[in-house]
Amino acid sequence: MPDLIKVAKFGGTSMADLEAMRRCAKIVAADHDKKVIVVSATSGTTNMLTHIFNSSSESERTSFLKQIQERHITLAHELETDGALVTKVEKILEDLERAVDALEAESMVERDHLLSFGERLSSVIFAEVLNELTGDVIWLDAREVIITDDFHGSAEPHISKLAEKAEEKIIPIIKKNRIVSQGFIGSTEDGVTTTLGRGGSDYSAALFAEAIEADVLEIWTDVTAIYSTDPRIVSDARPITEITFDEAAELSTFGAKVLHPATLKPAIRKIVKVYVGSSIHPDKPGTWIVKQTRENPVIRAISLRRDQTLITIHSLDMLHRFGYLARIFEILAKYKISVDLVTTSEVSVSLTLDTGAQSVNQSSSVNRAIEELRTFSDVRLEKGLTLIALVGNKLHATAGLSGPVFGELQNINIRLICHGASSHNLCFLVDERDAEGVVRVLHKKFITEKVKTATT
Ligand code: ADP
Ligand code: ASP
Ligand code: MG
Repeated sequence: MPDLIKVAKFGGTSMADLEAMRRCAKIVAADHDKKVIVVSATSGTTNMLTHIFNSSSESERTSFLKQIQERHITLAHELETDGALVTKVEKILEDLERAVDALEAESMVERDHLLSFGERLSSVIFAEVLNELTGDVIWLDAREVIITDDFHGSAEPHISKLAEKAEEKIIPIIKKNRIVSQGFIGSTEDGVTTTLGRGGSDYSAALFAEAIEADVLEIWTDVTAIYSTDPRIVSDARPITEITFDEAAELSTFGAKVLHPATLKPAIRKIVKVYVGSSIHPDKPGTWIVKQTRENPVIRAISLRRDQTLITIHSLDMLHRFGYLARIFEILAKYKISVDLVTTSEVSVSLTLDTGAQSVNQSSSVNRAIEELRTFSDVRLEKGLTLIALVGNKLHATAGLSGPVFGELQNINIRLICHGASSHNLCFLVDERDAEGVVRVLHKKFITEKVKTATT
């Protein structure tokens, strides 16, 4: 067995083309300890598969299908192997074509089946690319290990079953070989394909790491590190060298796309250290996510999550009555609706929903829940909001924090504030048109200028 066991995950842009795949293969080949490699679909493929599922136009479906076929067949040919890879890829593409022909609208089971093709295609190709360098690669169908419930579109893994499967199907193999498998996909105990939610390959990799008790989980992506905010919004965002599990979990929950929000759950359970680095510039320093960091700033990073809905439930009948909140949350639980922020007054409750992350099925459950809430309350919906989160340490116990934060935002209408429940975040909602400006102002004041003062 190697000294350390590492699980490495490469995202969609890292799988973009043969050149990108070869860069990733070099990163893996340079380190004997990287034993399980988890890959995403080639960039844009899952989006195209989603369009196929959502589109009712035959010609649009065919056009996306053609693009996916051409892209993967070209990759297989470019590799110039003995033809075995082309045959494998063609076989998967034939299955994909059959899946598209048989599609029925609104079936989440079929949606998961369809979306699984992206990772199935990229992983067979990447296995070949890596094998050219290392000669020790075994391709594994993730659905043999990642056993989940049947909540299609956002399935939950059965942790103890994963460990059993890993014991049987991974541990014996990685004594001598490396495994290439797929992110994002799993299967129910009955063998029906499921997916873990968009961006779920990070989560898959963490589940693999937990199941085999890996020492390190590496997330290789298109940015060099986790930054103090999305570098696409703030050009002088700073790379973070070290961040705690708690902070990184808050950051990803509140919108930092660099990690799927559930990724750190398995890592925290097994205390697997997590590294985030760039597959384009692997030598540039990345971010270590660890249990404890040497420095613990009050504000380490700022994230933003778009497409939020604020629901305000109001009922005068509820004045001085008990059980109002319980009744509301019972209804939300019945429809499996996950709520993020909550504030209450005597007769009103406001809560936020992550509309952007909802599947078609989930949004129809929300509609049914709202109808039921309307039987005893007024319910008001506000859409087009963005949630902004300041993430760091002891935010709940830092005197004089909210004054300067909200002082910077005097001309902004802040719809809801949540402060105090977590020591690691302060969140609020603003209109989506104001959101990026707010992030820039706060980043300048609390991160860029803080660093400048500390270094002068
Ligand atoms: P992958 O395909 O490798 O999974 P993603 O596109 O899912 O990559 O995630 C990487 C992207 O996350 C970056 O390109 C960046 O724009 C975005 N991002 C959002 N917030 C942050 C942040 N705080 N630090 C780094 N990247 C971030
Ligand atoms: N391919 C999937 C998606 O685009 C999973 C992932 O990339 O993490 O959502
Ligand atoms: Mg991702």
